[in-house]
Amino acid sequence: MGAIGGEELINWEKMQEMGNGKEEKIMVLVRLRPLSENEITRNEVADWECINPTTILYRNSLQEQSGLPTAYSFDRVFRGDCATREVYEEGTKDIALSVVGGINSTIFAYGQTSSGKTYTMNGITEYAVADIYDYIQRHEERAFVLKFSAVEIYNEVVRDLLSTDNAPLRLLDDPEINLHLESLSSLDVALNDENHSFGLGRTPLIPKVLLLLVIVPLNCDIASLKP
Ligand code: ADP
Ligand code: MG
Repeated sequence: MGAIGGEELINWEKMQEMGNGKEEKIMVLVRLRPLSENEITRNEVADWECINPTTILYRNSLQEQSGLPTAYSFDRVFRGDCATREVYEEGTKDIALSVVGGINSTIFAYGQTSSGKTYTMNGITEYAVADIYDYIQRHEERAFVLKFSAVEIYNEVVRDLLSTDNAPLRLLDDPEINLHLESLSSLDVALNDENHSFGLGRTPLIPKVLLLLVIVPLNCDIASLKP
């Protein structure tokens, strides 16, 4: 376990409590996508509008007449004209960085086709990886091991993108190590890899286009260099 102190120790203890389920946290954020050029050409109008940082409004007149609610609240909502950097900083940065404190975390996008999942997650992944590298470089008193795995979930089948074996991976629920993917491959990542490329050029199965589709479980193990 790494040697930590002061403010970091307090944050660490807070995160330990979260890890013990005392304050389990799931956050739901909504990001609206701006209308595409095609949608503008067809004179379409946006059905959804952010009316404050936590509420979106459904403006479709049919829905209003149906008596169903038109306003929905979430932990945070982002307007169509906000940058991915803002979504990352305000919505997901803390979650991404909790891994360097020993807490497992996941950020995923859910939505219909063309709603902006890939667009958003590409930016989030880039910023998260850069921040994790930055954190590691600023904490030389601790030793980190970074591992990279890449999986694709398509039609409810999970595939290991770092393996030449095309067989689907099994999802196992082990009481000791919790939910995990059986035999998922992982690469040890160089901590001084300035391009954050994970040495992926050496892996045959990940052409760039596939990277747009993957979930990136970044695993940070912490060990101490000095007591
Ligand atoms: P999904 O992965 O959900 O199917 P995409 O991420 O591919 O959707 O987005 C569909 C299209 O909309 C793409 O052309 C993408 O560049 C564009 N797009 C998505 N979100 C935004 C955004 N916030 N700002 C500008 N363009 C966006
Ligand atoms: Mg996509």
